[in-house]
Amino acid sequence: MTNNKILIVGGGFGGISAALTLEKENISNTEIALISDKSHFEYKPALYRVVTGRSPLEVCIPISEIFEKKNIAFALDAIKSVDPLKKIARGASGADYKFDYLVLALGSETAYFNIPGLEKFSFSFKSISEAMRLKMHLHDLFIECKKLKNNQDEKVCLLQVVVVGAGPSGIELSGELAIFMKRLAQEYGVDQSLISIDLIEAAPSILPAFPERISKKIAHRLRHIGVNIFTNRSMTKEEIEQISIRGMTMKTETVIWTAGVKSNYLYKSIGCLLLDEKGRVIVDEFLRAKRFENVFIVGDGAATANSGMAQTAIYDGQAAAENISRLIMNKPLKTYRQKKVYYALPVGPGWASVSLDFITLYGSIGWLLRRFVDFRYFLSILPVQKAVTVFRRGENLCDTCGICQPETNNSI
Ligand SMILES: Cc1cc2nc3c(=O)[nH]c(=O)nc-3n(C[C@H](O)[C@H](O)[C@H](O)COP(=O)(O)OP(=O)(O)OC[C@H]3O[C@@H](n4cnc5c(N)ncnc54)[C@H](O)[C@@H]3O)c2cc1C
Repeated sequence: MTNNKILIVGGGFGGISAALTLEKENISNTEIALISDKSHFEYKPALYRVVTGRSPLEVCIPISEIFEKKNIAFALDAIKSVDPLKKIARGASGADYKFDYLVLALGSETAYFNIPGLEKFSFSFKSISEAMRLKMHLHDLFIECKKLKNNQDEKVCLLQVVVVGAGPSGIELSGELAIFMKRLAQEYGVDQSLISIDLIEAAPSILPAFPERISKKIAHRLRHIGVNIFTNRSMTKEEIEQISIRGMTMKTETVIWTAGVKSNYLYKSIGCLLLDEKGRVIVDEFLRAKRFENVFIVGDGAATANSGMAQTAIYDGQAAAENISRLIMNKPLKTYRQKKVYYALPVGPGWASVSLDFITLYGSIGWLLRRFVDFRYFLSILPVQKAVTVFRRGENLCDTCGICQPETNNSI
């Protein structure tokens, strides 16, 4: 009997979830393989903590640990092309991967919207290597600042950090930075009053997709911990040491861009997938790429109502796995239903806003809930002992951690 080959591309939330769900189904005569361009899984919801000194080992989990004792083959490779008709994917290594069923879980990329200078001069914040690069830059700012003797203007420019985009990642990051920069100032013996953290948003309010009462409460919290908020300001240009925002110019060496996301380039380059205006793949009612019976799209790359969130990617991975198993067993497919999503937004250490069905919790209770959610996720992909270890790593401060090299994408 010939084996069914299931190929999953992408070792993030969606891909890992699809692989683990399929493995649990234990379908006979089936091979499951996952290809990813990184040997580790990145837990992005806690990425902001890496920038501000928490251990990167909390957000970096080797895929080999997740798949230990599982019947899932893993290969480290970057897929460069996919031919859905010939059922073959080709990696940068030159290897060809054949499949009967394909799950594409490629995530998204940073979009710079052709704003002059932005890609070249800004920091982005979507991966561990980018987070590490930013963290080292922040340390360098204080080292530089100490060298400047009495030049107050230059010091102020050095310690002005501008975060562009007041969506969830911009909020999480600026909240954490506000406290972290003060800690660094103390460490380096620099005057704290020189620091400024500015959060810029093009919409009339921060968190434009959230209910107004939550957005107001979080704005209040941000101001309380020292973040300056500028709304109705879209960025137009970035040069070295200066950015132009509609109606004003700011002198800074640190612009962190969190305002743009686009779909992974591979979806477009495949050529025959139908895409929406954001470059996401249009899927049918079973989460398959339209017109293809054996190609499933999960997570950020699927044009579904709640894509762009880890919760949706995990759910999608499970839904695609279930339907692949039904296809193999000749059972009717299950219609994909949107998953209700919940927000748990940390704003500085020890404080979070968590929206449940009828109530929104703020403060330390929200923070505990948010940490519980993190732990629950680790438990879902790792044995209990390992989940506890990964979770506890996040409590370690590791400002001088030598494990991570900010310039490389692989092998942490
Ligand atoms: C800073 C930050 C904070 C966030 N916080 C939250 C949060 O609190 N809650 C929430 O629900 N969501 C959050 N998100 C969103 C969430 O992380 C994403 O929605 C989720 O990661 C999407 O899952 P995915 O599987 O589609 O993609 P990803 O998790 O990004 O995984 C994609 C994988 O594919 C790999 N890959 C890409 N191209 C190739 C290729 N050509 N070949 C092989 N492998 C490839 C990548 O290396 C990666 O491993 C956050 C995102 C960021 C950036």
